[in-house]
Amino acid sequence: MSTEEVAPAHQAFNTILVLDFGSQYSHLIIRRLREFNVYAEMLPCTQKISELPFKPVGIILSGGPYSVYEEGSPHVDHAIFDLNVPILGICYGMQELAWINGKGVGRGEKREYGPAIVNVTDNSCPLFNGVNNSQVWMSHNDKLISLPTGFKTVATTDNSPFAGIASIEKPIFGLQFHPEVTHSLQGKILLKNFAVDICKAKQNWTMQNFIDTEIKRIRTLVGPTAEVIGAVSGGVDSTVGAKLMKEAIGDRFHAIYVDNGLMRKNETVTVKKTLDEGLGINLTVVDAGDEFLGNLKGITDPEKKRKIIGNTFIHVFERVSEEIKPKDGSKIEFLLQGTLYPDVIESISFKGPSQTIKTHHNVGGLLEDMKLKLIEPLRELFKDEVRALGKILGIPDELVWRHPFPGPGIGIRVLGEVTPSQVKIAREADYIFIEEIKAHGLYNNISQAFAALLPVKSVGVVGDQRTYEQVIALRAIETTDFMTADWYVFEAAFLKKVASRIVNEVDGVARVTYDITSKPPATVEWE
Ligand code: GLN
Repeated sequence: MSTEEVAPAHQAFNTILVLDFGSQYSHLIIRRLREFNVYAEMLPCTQKISELPFKPVGIILSGGPYSVYEEGSPHVDHAIFDLNVPILGICYGMQELAWINGKGVGRGEKREYGPAIVNVTDNSCPLFNGVNNSQVWMSHNDKLISLPTGFKTVATTDNSPFAGIASIEKPIFGLQFHPEVTHSLQGKILLKNFAVDICKAKQNWTMQNFIDTEIKRIRTLVGPTAEVIGAVSGGVDSTVGAKLMKEAIGDRFHAIYVDNGLMRKNETVTVKKTLDEGLGINLTVVDAGDEFLGNLKGITDPEKKRKIIGNTFIHVFERVSEEIKPKDGSKIEFLLQGTLYPDVIESISFKGPSQTIKTHHNVGGLLEDMKLKLIEPLRELFKDEVRALGKILGIPDELVWRHPFPGPGIGIRVLGEVTPSQVKIAREADYIFIEEIKAHGLYNNISQAFAALLPVKSVGVVGDQRTYEQVIALRAIETTDFMTADWYVFEAAFLKKVASRIVNEVDGVARVTYDITSKPPATVEWE
């Protein structure tokens, strides 16, 4: 088999390498580049260049919270200059280039944060082609005190005499501002000038091309006989992963859907219909509701609930994969995991000395117990890329745009003890809420919406009868990254309608409230 067939994306596509110095914006550099179909990957700034797993066509040094002149600050491996590829330093990255070439970096008199207008002083600089007098975004305390040796100034702002610099002889550039944030209005043009015109990166990073290379890669990795299992939840990531596996190895991929008794109304039926009948995925549905609810009996602590649900899942999953073991002697060797690029970034980005790496207990457990290897076909992709991929793979829009749903499902939306009757109340209320959101055409404006059941009794009156029942809390949020979120502002008439339907149609609810807390300080889910 040729090596080209097993190539991961950074070998199959021209790649810009982003070396991360810990800026909160580093991932945005990658996103912007991919928006114009140039592939980019991030590695920590401490990466040894002799150990690079691929040869990049260009390198970007990100911003970072440190000061280059301070002891203990991170510094790049000088071997980047031996690769003879174009280099762009952004903020800390630019200061790092200056530090290496003459050490002319120091503390500014005042910190500069916010908009500035860039003025291009050297029209021959290819980086600034098509850019001038537009707003750029500054976020720094330190500044260049002098021009680094061998560099010239190509752009200024009122406060920054060295807003843009370029090496006189080599394709090496520095920007004091952040072209990757959208507040830098022409930032994308700058990044495109760098990647496409200066680095000559091919603009071929499309999901159609990704499918072709990824399917070949999966086939080579799995080989002609081995089998793969994976859990599907009905969410977009696991469905796209499963469909990609199906395209690559057909029925040698076994999808397992565990109905934990904590899914939304009609969910299991819909998943079965979409994945099995619609997408032709080799699917096993397991009804394990009694087991999950049995294990949850008497448990009220949220962390304990999550743990029990996670462990029960592992048990059920292992048992079922034992049952579907191929009879013809071939072996299940791989576990499909829907890891996305933000998880990868989270684990590799540079966080300084106190670096912690996120561990994924469930997956770790399964891999060890079952002696499986991990296969992660989406690990290079951002969520919007997964959605685009899903569309190409024929996954219905409804599923592609579905709100996220937590692994423990309704188990953490029923506060306190999770019993079948409590799950039923939360499920019915949730269904009405979502049904109305869809009917009002609001579903795609909202990032996530659900109903939580609060085990608090409250007095009501229905048909002259006093009632004493529980409370439903509705939650709907808007967010771009789920790190911060704001509550969605509904019309009063909408909330009125939902509240009246829930109290009238769901037995056991006396009162409906709407959660108007942002994240932070609250989280999206109630538990
Ligand atoms: N810490 C450096 C400064 O304050 C770089 C900041 C940045 O990269 N955004 O200037």
